[in-house]
Amino acid sequence: MKTKRNKSTRRRVDKDRVTDNARDQASTGKMDWLRLPSNVEAWAPTQPGTVKMDIVPYEVSSENHPDRIEKGCLWYKLPFAVHRDVGIDSKNIVCPQSVDDKVPCPICAKRKLLLKDYDDNVEQIKELNPQKWVLYNMLDPKNPGGNMFVFAFSRGKFAATLEAELLEGDEGDLSFYDVTKEGRTLSVRFSKDSFAGTDFITAKRIDFKRREELDEDDVLGRVADLDKCLVVLSVDQVTRMFDGGEASPSSSESESSTRKRRSRDPEPDPEPDPEPEPEADEDKTECETARDRQEQPDEPEEEFDPVAAPSDEGDEDDDLFI
Ligand SMILES: [Zn+2]
Repeated sequence: MKTKRNKSTRRRVDKDRVTDNARDQASTGKMDWLRLPSNVEAWAPTQPGTVKMDIVPYEVSSENHPDRIEKGCLWYKLPFAVHRDVGIDSKNIVCPQSVDDKVPCPICAKRKLLLKDYDDNVEQIKELNPQKWVLYNMLDPKNPGGNMFVFAFSRGKFAATLEAELLEGDEGDLSFYDVTKEGRTLSVRFSKDSFAGTDFITAKRIDFKRREELDEDDVLGRVADLDKCLVVLSVDQVTRMFDGGEASPSSSESESSTRKRRSRDPEPDPEPDPEPEPEADEDKTECETARDRQEQPDEPEEEFDPVAAPSDEGDEDDDLFI
């Protein structure tokens, strides 16, 4: 278990960090491997409708958090990137550089080389584009003492909308993820959208609702350390897979510690790949998000309990559980 701290010693980041961070983010992504503590379940929306959720903080344990949050501070998310269809097994793997920029990623390095001659290499570059994802801890507001969930979703389908709301909304909502009275329940409207003939669920609108203070010691004692929830292969493993000569390291300690992995590979992400650099389309993403909000499609305002979201894997098209 993590080292216990009490309320007076837990470190909170300045509110400016929330807007600064929201401004810094880029586009889309897709998740493959999670490694969750046994007390935490994976969750993702599977149908259009409005979901109420309490995103709650965890204590950053990484020395090199992708959001530049200091170790020991309370923070609410872990962004990362995934490379798809790597190696002869076509595995989706976490980009090692996306969770620690001191670690070189051989796939990103190859992509960078190809970018020098973009027109000749455009198809290969697309294949190597990392997809961006974000992890959150969350509770069901109707049962905050109940199950803890990790919400893992493509960045473009939730985080981008949330960041736009944080940038444009009330400063009083910036501590939405805290366990104190400053925290907010998010009311998220998920709608169906489509790209290239593939339907998917995406967050179109997020409202912030006042909520009661949560039991800090209970929540902080149960949240997943998001910095430890991803299976990240070593650079050597990624290199061998990428070179195509080796299947995924199924007998490695990383793979064997993976839990709650999907029984099949996820569907192809229907969102457009970022081009030519994922870091270059931040403005476009925010503009697209704003446009989406203005469209206000006629989705029914249907509430459903996160806990009650379907967990069986009978329907491949609808099931977004990990
Ligand atoms: Zn990479």
